[in-house]
Amino acid sequence: MTDVFGDLVGQDEAVAMLRRAAASAAALLRAPVTAPAGGHDDLDALAEEYDGDPAPAPADPGAGMTHAWIFTGPPGSGRSVAARAFAAALECVHGTGCGTCPGCHTTLTGTHADVRLVVPEGLSIGVNEMRALVLRAASAPSGGRWQIVIIEDADRLTEAAGNALLKAIEEPPPRTVFLLCAPSTHPDDISVTIRSRCRVVPLRQPPPAAVAEVLVRRDGIAPDVAEWAAAAAQGHVGRARRLARDPEARQRRDAVLAVPRRLTGVGAAFDAASALIEAAEAEAAASVAEIDEAERTALQTALGAGGTGRGAAGAMRGAAGQLKDLEKRQKSRATRAQRDALDRALVDLAGFYRDAIVMALRAPVAPVHTDTASLASAGAQKWDAEGSLRRLEAVLECRAAIEANVKPRIAVEAMMLALWRG
Ligand SMILES: [Zn+2]
Repeated sequence: MTDVFGDLVGQDEAVAMLRRAAASAAALLRAPVTAPAGGHDDLDALAEEYDGDPAPAPADPGAGMTHAWIFTGPPGSGRSVAARAFAAALECVHGTGCGTCPGCHTTLTGTHADVRLVVPEGLSIGVNEMRALVLRAASAPSGGRWQIVIIEDADRLTEAAGNALLKAIEEPPPRTVFLLCAPSTHPDDISVTIRSRCRVVPLRQPPPAAVAEVLVRRDGIAPDVAEWAAAAAQGHVGRARRLARDPEARQRRDAVLAVPRRLTGVGAAFDAASALIEAAEAEAAASVAEIDEAERTALQTALGAGGTGRGAAGAMRGAAGQLKDLEKRQKSRATRAQRDALDRALVDLAGFYRDAIVMALRAPVAPVHTDTASLASAGAQKWDAEGSLRRLEAVLECRAAIEANVKPRIAVEAMMLALWRG
């Protein structure tokens, strides 16, 4: 029924742009051999088009294909969903992203031989990983269409990794496409030089109604639950789905939203800070435990294979290094997961104080957290708009401090004290 773009909620303009590009890319692949001897073929035509030459394929060069793309938008707007959908459309045997052909199917399920997905597990993507990736991306596509590299969270590239990527983008192999995902094109997120080589696909925060609609249609969630979850998740599709389906996620959110009424003194503020940090740690530990264990088992199996035969001693020496590497990667992933969990809690808390401001100002705007609206209303009366705003700012400052590498516990304690004092 729906094609590969069906999951992009409330992103009509971006979808139209990507459809045009996919059609243009398909036309380039179909373009006849036009040139005299000397190896001129559709690839040269493609190269010319990248240089801004409108010949030969698409009628509208602005709608055409290019080697490097950046998908930007707030968390949950569907950056990686959009990048994957576009990759599927490029690999689609019909060139449209039909959603059912082998090209679409294998791309969406992550098994297409020419599509590589980089998901940073730690706090940044390193240079070695990027070099290996660039090298592999330079080979000709085995399926005859495109070599595609999707980089999620391209804002977490190290500077050296960014430079390795930039080289590849500056002199792209003819059939290679890079799809980067980042929160914005701000220089903090993506270097100006990389940005200048990419076409930007801006995604917006989808409206709650659109998020609720997709939860009902695709996930079979009851409409009233979908509406509540869509509002509470503030436009974040994945978060909305989790809130609608996962009772533990709902409990964690309830605990976060109970913070404002628990802040009765200095001791309570420190207790609340501890509780928030520990909840984030527990959530993160649960989220990485399964994959950590699977990786350890896989590595031990790989190292154990061959057992006591010749070369076993050498294998043991290598094994220690590999285990150490794995532990390092896992630790880095755990840190990231903790920060992500804490950030989700802070976003929920910010939503609560935002609701209080809206109520104090009697603005005709729907609350984020419908289930704590009466609490926010009580807060609004007690703190007024100004006091509510100061508290919202304290939450946002805490997020910014953690982003700037302040120790989470310190930042959260400072925030709790500020929320208590007002
Ligand atoms: Zn297809």
